[in-house]
Amino acid sequence: MSLKIILRKYFSIILNILGLAPKFWQDSSKYFVTIDYHYFSDNNEISHPSLEINRNILELQLKFFQKNMHIIDPKHLGNNLFSMLKSDMSSILFTIDDADISFKENFDLFQKYKIPVILFVPFGLCLKQNTRDGLMSRILRSFFEIEKNKLLSLKQKEGFFNSLESASMENLNKIYKDLLPRRDKIDPISSRVLLSIEELQKLSRDSLITIGSHSMSHPILSEVPEKWLNWELSTSKKYLQIVNGDEKYFAYPYGFKASTNSEIKQKLKKLGIKYAFLTRSTVITTDSDKLELGRVGMLNFFNARYLRGLAGRAFEVYDKLLLR
Ligand SMILES: [Zn+2]
Repeated sequence: MSLKIILRKYFSIILNILGLAPKFWQDSSKYFVTIDYHYFSDNNEISHPSLEINRNILELQLKFFQKNMHIIDPKHLGNNLFSMLKSDMSSILFTIDDADISFKENFDLFQKYKIPVILFVPFGLCLKQNTRDGLMSRILRSFFEIEKNKLLSLKQKEGFFNSLESASMENLNKIYKDLLPRRDKIDPISSRVLLSIEELQKLSRDSLITIGSHSMSHPILSEVPEKWLNWELSTSKKYLQIVNGDEKYFAYPYGFKASTNSEIKQKLKKLGIKYAFLTRSTVITTDSDKLELGRVGMLNFFNARYLRGLAGRAFEVYDKLLLR
């Protein structure tokens, strides 16, 4: 396990023991914490320690949150984010990124503890490979999994994007086949099985599930040319409507600070997005920029002090110390 993950675990516990975390709670009606999950697993061998949670641990976490915290329902999150927070209890909002199949397999636990979630979906990777948008998305994803392509200029990337738009399905298949073996930095998302559009349609009928957009091909949006960016945003909106999602919500792929900028935020606003989430561990207050909302990544770990510290802003302090 990496030092960073160990530090993250114990930082929250230490703050809690020192009594620092409880101080933050005194005004719990003024802020809330958003949790970010990715993958769940049945066995004890966790392949991505910062992204994957064992089912038994997930159950302990959900049970703890249900008992000790006010759970925010995204279906009731209106314009005033703060009107429903409680002064005597930390509030928490649950989000799950990347539409992994393991969410469906573990959704029964969210049902058992009645925990509503926002599911952020990279739609292009959920589409079948034999559809044009599905194939385009896999090509665009693979493009950035070749390290040297990240260094290309915006103009060069735009040239690549344009060449896809005018290509036949047959040529797109050829381009994809050519890219696959050249990838030298494969993202975990490319080796996962994602939920299909049909499965998402079914899931979105459940009152506990709200679906939001997480782009089409899951790129770092600030690193793609404008035309490509427009495609990621407007095409994903189209599929969001097909699965009956809520267009208010968006999560930036990767979600570090530089994964967004004022130009991207302007476009999101125009598309009707009111709340866009990063993965920086800031809590959400009345002063937060609603298109740069923070989230805390959950670890495969159960400890009540850890979870209390997490809901009590410990990770905001942690991120500041590490200058993230
Ligand atoms: Zn993601």
